[in-house]
Amino acid sequence: ERARDAAEAPREAVTRDGRRVVVGANVGSVADARAAATAGADGAGLVRTEILFLDRDRPPTAEEQEREYLAVLDAFAGRPVTIRTLDVGGDKPLRYLPQPPEANPFLGVRGVRLSLTRPDLLRTQLAAVCRAAARGPVRVMVPMVSVVEEVLAVRRLLTEAAAPGPVPAGLRVGVMVEVPAVALNVEAFLPHVDFLSIGTNDLTQYTLAAERGHPALAALADPLDPAVLRLVGETASRAAGRATVSVCGEVAADPLAVPVLVGLGVQELSVAPSAVAGTKAAVRRLDSGACVELARRCLAATGAAEVRALVRAAQDAPP
Ligand code: PEP
Ligand code: MG
Repeated sequence: ERARDAAEAPREAVTRDGRRVVVGANVGSVADARAAATAGADGAGLVRTEILFLDRDRPPTAEEQEREYLAVLDAFAGRPVTIRTLDVGGDKPLRYLPQPPEANPFLGVRGVRLSLTRPDLLRTQLAAVCRAAARGPVRVMVPMVSVVEEVLAVRRLLTEAAAPGPVPAGLRVGVMVEVPAVALNVEAFLPHVDFLSIGTNDLTQYTLAAERGHPALAALADPLDPAVLRLVGETASRAAGRATVSVCGEVAADPLAVPVLVGLGVQELSVAPSAVAGTKAAVRRLDSGACVELARRCLAATGAAEVRALVRAAQDAPP
């Protein structure tokens, strides 16, 4: 079955009733990008650029970044590449970006909040992204957004970074939905974004108030909690027809989650390179109408355990 999934992976993933679901990859390096392209990914739904910035005394130059982004684009040979701007903070400190200690780094100056304290660094990164966008379809994605002002500030820096030219016409701009406020207030963001990418790893930690990776809270921090699913569904339904909605958190590769996410209206999934073939195969087994009905029942579930039971029962039922 695995061999068959791998052989089929380069083809588009379409449900039995004809709904296309784009399955991209989460990558952190050029090597990852090559592995993902070989595995049949429909582009990169998330390029984590942190690796370029960590463990060094100075930030990477625009030229260094441009080289890296072009190499990722080349690996995907014309398929879209979503470059996330620097996403670090108190939990991942950088030598050239000293931060005062924080009692709650996950609620502190991280992601776009940190980038906006150093507009010079963000402008340099955006300049590299603009240059790379001349080579192929690039999307730029902003992490840890909570309010519209942050998007507007990044858009202003993008305009400055592209100068003296215009922002490349093909460059799409989007935000990650990781903070519940964005999902709850999504209408306010829609005029300013081309896409929304739901980062369920962080969205779950902020929705359940349970630190991600905390060994004692793993059961609590469940992305299939109906509260998280409701935020995903709100985001997808309100954005429908106005912005592309994807999920790039780890749950996107969970075969039990895929039918629910598709049923909630998610159009794209982005998963680890090793999960691309399996996720595409999971999509091909689905009927999108049945997924909508399943998602409706999951939203009414009392907890993540019941969500899983509902999905399993639907999978066992004769098609
Ligand atoms: C997320 O938060 O779901 C996400 C994809 O970003 P990261 O795991 O890099 O925080
Ligand atoms: Mg995140």
